[in-house]
Amino acid sequence: MARYTGPACKLCRREGEQLFLKGERCMTSKCAIERKPYPPGLQGKRIRRRITEYGLRLREKQKAKRIYGMTERQFKIYFREAARTKGVTGSLLLSIIETRLDNVVFRLGFASSRNQARQLVNLGHINVDGRRVDVSSYRVTPSSVVEVRERSRKMPSVNKSLGLSEKKGIPGWLSLDREKYKGIMNKTPEREDVQIPVSENLIVEFYSRV
Ligand code: SF4
Repeated sequence: MARYTGPACKLCRREGEQLFLKGERCMTSKCAIERKPYPPGLQGKRIRRRITEYGLRLREKQKAKRIYGMTERQFKIYFREAARTKGVTGSLLLSIIETRLDNVVFRLGFASSRNQARQLVNLGHINVDGRRVDVSSYRVTPSSVVEVRERSRKMPSVNKSLGLSEKKGIPGWLSLDREKYKGIMNKTPEREDVQIPVSENLIVEFYSRV
């Protein structure tokens, strides 16, 4: 199935919580979930039905997929890889996804949302270890240097995002030299390094039962 290109706020409203898909706007009173705290299409009239066990797991999987902006196919591929790897499948799943280049660009603060980060990568604004990489699913490995290409460092969106990230901070598994627009992945992130409001165990249970 193709990547979802409709309104991002609809996805948050569907999940009933902020997924922070639109960068700066999500921190303002313009956030749709503040103004319309009910699922899309219901006009606030229908009462939510009790969710089943299956529904609970499905929603958790959908939430993670939407936060990272992935298709079902991509997400399933990462799940299978995590399941084949020795360790805790749910934690491994998040760890694998976090090392995608678009996510690393977002976490370093070069973009204010994962969607914007994906565009930066796809349009060739990012170098990894000195070479241009325009594949957003590229897997970053420990010690890799991720930087905004020199000709792209004047982009207002990059500088604005870097300014915002100064307040927000960056995760401990990455380090950043703001002046040089350059970040390094210090280590592979583990579950405790990943700040994401998702219960990965429910996702594992979902795929184990379908
Ligand atoms: Fe979600 Fe951000 Fe839209 Fe709020 S503004 S509903 S957090 S995408």
